[in-house]
Amino acid sequence: MIIRKLEPGPFAANCYIVGSEATREGMIIDPGTQAEDIMQQVRDLGLDIRVIVLTHGHMDHTGALAEVKEATGAQVAIHTEDARSLQARHPMMSMFGRSSKEMPSPDRLLNDGDTVSVGDLHFQVLHTPGHTPGGICLLGEGVVFSGDTLFQFSIGRADFPGASYEQEVNSIRTKLLTLPDETTVLPGHGPNTTIGIERKVNPFLQDGAAF
Ligand SMILES: [Zn+2]
Ligand SMILES: [Zn+2]
Repeated sequence: MIIRKLEPGPFAANCYIVGSEATREGMIIDPGTQAEDIMQQVRDLGLDIRVIVLTHGHMDHTGALAEVKEATGAQVAIHTEDARSLQARHPMMSMFGRSSKEMPSPDRLLNDGDTVSVGDLHFQVLHTPGHTPGGICLLGEGVVFSGDTLFQFSIGRADFPGASYEQEVNSIRTKLLTLPDETTVLPGHGPNTTIGIERKVNPFLQDGAAF
Protein backbone atom coordinates (compact mmCIF):
# COMPACT_ATOMS: atom_id res chain seq x y z
CA MET A 1 0.00 0.00 0.00
CA ILE A 2 1.30 3.44 -0.95
CA ILE A 3 0.68 6.12 1.69
CA ARG A 4 1.91 9.66 1.17
CA LYS A 5 1.24 12.18 3.93
CA LEU A 6 1.09 15.91 3.22
CA GLU A 7 1.33 18.15 6.26
CA PRO A 8 0.40 21.61 5.08
CA GLY A 9 0.73 23.41 8.40
CA PRO A 10 -1.45 24.64 11.23
CA PHE A 11 -4.41 25.97 9.22
CA ALA A 12 -5.22 22.86 7.28
CA ALA A 13 -5.41 19.18 7.97
CA ASN A 14 -3.03 16.41 7.01
CA CYS A 15 -3.92 15.11 3.58
CA TYR A 16 -3.21 11.50 2.65
CA ILE A 17 -2.75 10.04 -0.79
CA VAL A 18 -3.25 6.29 -0.69
CA GLY A 19 -2.72 3.94 -3.58
CA SER A 20 -2.50 0.37 -4.71
CA GLU A 21 0.93 -0.71 -5.92
CA ALA A 22 -0.73 -3.42 -7.97
CA THR A 23 -3.31 -1.38 -9.89
CA ARG A 24 -2.05 2.23 -9.39
CA GLU A 25 -5.56 3.22 -8.37
CA GLY A 26 -5.68 5.76 -5.58
CA MET A 27 -7.66 7.66 -3.00
CA ILE A 28 -7.20 11.11 -1.49
CA ILE A 29 -8.24 11.66 2.12
CA ASP A 30 -9.04 15.21 3.29
CA PRO A 31 -7.76 17.64 0.65
CA GLY A 32 -7.71 20.70 2.90
CA THR A 33 -5.53 23.07 0.93
CA GLN A 34 -2.76 23.28 -1.68
CA ALA A 35 -4.50 21.42 -4.47
CA GLU A 36 -1.47 21.92 -6.75
CA ASP A 37 0.83 20.16 -4.27
CA ILE A 38 -1.60 17.31 -3.88
CA MET A 39 -1.92 16.88 -7.64
CA GLN A 40 1.85 17.04 -8.08
CA GLN A 41 2.25 14.17 -5.61
CA VAL A 42 -0.49 12.20 -7.35
CA ARG A 43 1.36 12.59 -10.65
CA ASP A 44 4.70 11.67 -9.04
CA LEU A 45 3.14 8.49 -7.67
CA GLY A 46 1.48 7.72 -10.99
CA LEU A 47 -1.90 7.15 -9.40
CA ASP A 48 -5.33 7.23 -10.95
CA ILE A 49 -7.45 8.76 -8.17
CA ARG A 50 -10.86 7.08 -7.96
CA VAL A 51 -12.27 8.46 -4.75
CA ILE A 52 -11.82 11.44 -2.41
CA VAL A 53 -12.86 10.54 1.13
CA LEU A 54 -13.63 13.25 3.68
CA THR A 55 -13.25 12.15 7.28
CA HIS A 56 -15.72 14.93 8.11
CA GLY A 57 -17.04 18.17 6.70
CA HIS A 58 -14.83 20.79 8.33
CA MET A 59 -13.26 23.39 6.08
CA ASP A 60 -9.68 22.57 7.06
CA HIS A 61 -10.25 19.11 5.52
CA THR A 62 -12.29 20.13 2.48
CA GLY A 63 -10.82 23.46 1.32
CA ALA A 64 -9.18 22.06 -1.81
CA LEU A 65 -11.98 19.62 -2.60
CA ALA A 66 -13.41 21.46 -5.61
CA GLU A 67 -10.04 21.76 -7.34
CA VAL A 68 -8.94 18.22 -6.56
CA LYS A 69 -12.27 16.82 -7.74
CA GLU A 70 -12.01 18.81 -10.95
CA ALA A 71 -8.45 17.63 -11.55
CA THR A 72 -9.13 13.95 -10.86
CA GLY A 73 -12.78 13.39 -11.76
CA ALA A 74 -12.91 11.17 -8.67
CA GLN A 75 -16.01 10.46 -6.61
CA VAL A 76 -16.47 12.43 -3.40
CA ALA A 77 -17.46 10.34 -0.37
CA ILE A 78 -18.54 11.60 3.04
CA HIS A 79 -20.69 10.23 5.85
CA THR A 80 -24.41 10.87 5.52
CA GLU A 81 -24.50 12.96 8.70
CA ASP A 82 -21.78 15.38 7.52
CA ALA A 83 -22.89 15.70 3.89
CA ARG A 84 -24.82 18.87 4.61
CA SER A 85 -21.76 20.69 5.88
CA LEU A 86 -20.33 20.62 2.36
CA GLN A 87 -23.01 23.05 1.27
CA ALA A 88 -22.49 25.45 4.13
CA ARG A 89 -20.45 28.48 3.23
CA HIS A 90 -17.75 29.23 5.72
CA PRO A 91 -16.10 32.58 6.47
CA MET A 92 -12.71 30.84 6.45
CA MET A 93 -13.23 29.91 2.82
CA SER A 94 -11.54 33.00 1.45
CA MET A 95 -8.59 32.29 3.68
CA PHE A 96 -8.14 29.00 1.86
CA GLY A 97 -8.57 30.70 -1.49
CA ARG A 98 -11.86 28.93 -1.94
CA SER A 99 -14.21 31.87 -2.23
CA SER A 100 -15.12 31.47 -5.88
CA LYS A 101 -15.63 27.75 -6.50
CA GLU A 102 -18.73 25.90 -5.45
CA MET A 103 -18.26 22.92 -3.19
CA PRO A 104 -19.00 19.72 -5.11
CA SER A 105 -21.86 17.68 -3.74
CA PRO A 106 -21.03 14.16 -2.60
CA ASP A 107 -21.27 11.27 -5.06
CA ARG A 108 -21.36 8.65 -2.35
CA LEU A 109 -22.82 8.79 1.15
CA LEU A 110 -21.01 6.58 3.64
CA ASN A 111 -22.36 4.67 6.60
CA ASP A 112 -20.80 2.61 9.36
CA GLY A 113 -19.50 -0.71 8.07
CA ASP A 114 -19.30 0.35 4.41
CA THR A 115 -16.26 -0.60 2.39
CA VAL A 116 -14.29 1.84 0.27
CA SER A 117 -12.26 -0.08 -2.30
CA VAL A 118 -9.27 1.23 -4.20
CA GLY A 119 -7.99 -1.43 -6.58
CA ASP A 120 -7.06 -4.38 -4.38
CA LEU A 121 -7.18 -2.31 -1.18
CA HIS A 122 -10.25 -2.28 1.00
CA PHE A 123 -11.05 0.15 3.79
CA GLN A 124 -13.79 -0.18 6.34
CA VAL A 125 -15.79 2.90 7.32
CA LEU A 126 -15.98 3.34 11.10
CA HIS A 127 -18.59 5.91 12.06
CA THR A 128 -17.04 7.80 14.97
CA PRO A 129 -19.38 10.67 15.87
CA GLY A 130 -18.38 13.21 18.50
CA HIS A 131 -16.15 15.83 16.89
CA THR A 132 -18.88 16.06 14.24
CA PRO A 133 -22.05 13.96 13.88
CA GLY A 134 -20.78 12.31 10.68
CA GLY A 135 -17.11 11.88 11.48
CA ILE A 136 -15.53 8.68 10.22
CA CYS A 137 -12.29 6.78 10.52
CA LEU A 138 -11.09 4.57 7.69
CA LEU A 139 -9.61 1.22 8.63
CA GLY A 140 -7.16 -0.48 6.26
CA GLU A 141 -4.63 -3.23 6.75
CA GLY A 142 -2.66 -2.24 9.86
CA VAL A 143 -3.62 1.43 9.57
CA VAL A 144 -6.47 3.65 10.57
CA PHE A 145 -7.02 7.16 9.21
CA SER A 146 -8.53 8.83 12.24
CA GLY A 147 -9.55 12.29 11.00
CA ASP A 148 -10.17 14.64 13.92
CA THR A 149 -11.39 11.84 16.18
CA LEU A 150 -8.04 10.71 17.58
CA PHE A 151 -4.69 12.53 17.59
CA GLN A 152 -1.32 11.75 19.13
CA PHE A 153 -1.87 12.31 22.88
CA SER A 154 -5.13 14.14 22.23
CA ILE A 155 -8.60 13.96 20.70
CA GLY A 156 -10.63 16.26 18.47
CA ARG A 157 -12.34 19.33 19.86
CA ALA A 158 -15.89 18.81 20.99
CA ASP A 159 -16.90 22.39 21.69
CA PHE A 160 -18.56 23.17 18.34
CA PRO A 161 -22.30 23.08 17.79
CA GLY A 162 -23.26 19.48 17.06
CA ALA A 163 -20.18 18.10 18.78
CA SER A 164 -20.28 15.85 21.82
CA TYR A 165 -17.34 15.04 24.06
CA GLU A 166 -19.07 12.04 25.57
CA GLN A 167 -19.93 10.64 22.17
CA GLU A 168 -16.40 11.20 20.95
CA VAL A 169 -14.76 9.33 23.81
CA ASN A 170 -17.32 6.56 23.39
CA SER A 171 -16.55 6.34 19.65
CA ILE A 172 -12.83 6.06 20.37
CA ARG A 173 -13.33 3.43 23.05
CA THR A 174 -15.71 1.25 21.06
CA LYS A 175 -14.36 1.66 17.51
CA LEU A 176 -10.64 2.45 17.86
CA LEU A 177 -9.32 1.08 21.15
CA THR A 178 -10.74 -2.29 20.08
CA LEU A 179 -8.13 -2.42 17.28
CA PRO A 180 -4.77 -4.18 17.74
CA ASP A 181 -2.08 -2.19 19.59
CA GLU A 182 0.25 -2.15 16.60
CA THR A 183 -2.31 -0.42 14.33
CA THR A 184 -0.77 2.79 12.97
CA VAL A 185 -2.97 5.85 13.52
CA LEU A 186 -2.80 8.46 10.75
CA PRO A 187 -4.56 11.47 12.19
CA GLY A 188 -6.11 14.58 10.67
CA HIS A 189 -3.59 16.80 12.45
CA GLY A 190 -0.10 16.21 13.82
CA PRO A 191 2.18 13.20 13.86
CA ASN A 192 1.30 9.53 13.49
CA THR A 193 0.86 7.32 16.51
CA THR A 194 -0.39 3.81 17.30
CA ILE A 195 -3.46 2.45 19.05
CA GLY A 196 -1.21 0.89 21.72
CA ILE A 197 0.51 4.18 22.55
CA GLU A 198 -2.78 6.09 22.77
CA ARG A 199 -4.36 3.37 24.87
CA LYS A 200 -1.47 3.74 27.32
CA VAL A 201 -0.79 7.46 27.46
CA ASN A 202 -3.57 9.51 25.87
CA PRO A 203 -4.82 11.58 28.83
CA PHE A 204 -8.37 11.70 27.46
CA LEU A 205 -8.66 7.92 27.39
CA GLN A 206 -7.42 6.92 30.81
CA ASP A 207 -9.84 5.41 33.29
CA GLY A 208 -11.46 8.14 35.30
CA ALA A 209 -10.39 10.86 32.85
CA ALA A 210 -12.71 13.81 33.20
CA PHE A 211 -11.83 16.71 30.95
ZN1 LIG B 1 -9.30 19.37 11.42
ZN1 LIG C 1 -12.59 18.98 12.35
